[in-house]
Amino acid sequence: MYVMLMGVNTRLSKPVLLRIIKANVHDVDVTFYLCDVDGCESKATKASDLKKHKAAVHDLEVTFYVCDVKGCDYKAKQACHLKNHKDNAHDLDVAFYECGVDGCEYKAKKASSIKKHKTRIHGISS
Ligand SMILES: [Zn+2]
Ligand SMILES: [Zn+2]
Ligand SMILES: [Zn+2]
Repeated sequence: MYVMLMGVNTRLSKPVLLRIIKANVHDVDVTFYLCDVDGCESKATKASDLKKHKAAVHDLEVTFYVCDVKGCDYKAKQACHLKNHKDNAHDLDVAFYECGVDGCEYKAKKASSIKKHKTRIHGISS
């Protein structure tokens, strides 16, 4: 592989090696995009392919949707996943039903829970 190339110092940085590969081994017109992640030897002939590789393998150059709830480090690659997370984990973006009885702070995600609560706590059955 290229690290054995004609006794070239293998400690050369990847961009330098890239130029050597171009000049000596391949058609000079071919440009390789090398993955710059430590320990990764992947390369691609197209910048877009390298970008895909980095996104898929290293989660780099990916737009993440990050949960903005304090103390939560959840992130998702899709907005809908983040919304599901917030609904389930933080009860955000959820419509709450409120008890409505004076001085009572009870609320629930389901109307039926409110009904049960009213019957049990306030003795109101409707
Ligand atoms: Zn890589
Ligand atoms: Zn969260
Ligand atoms: Zn109540």
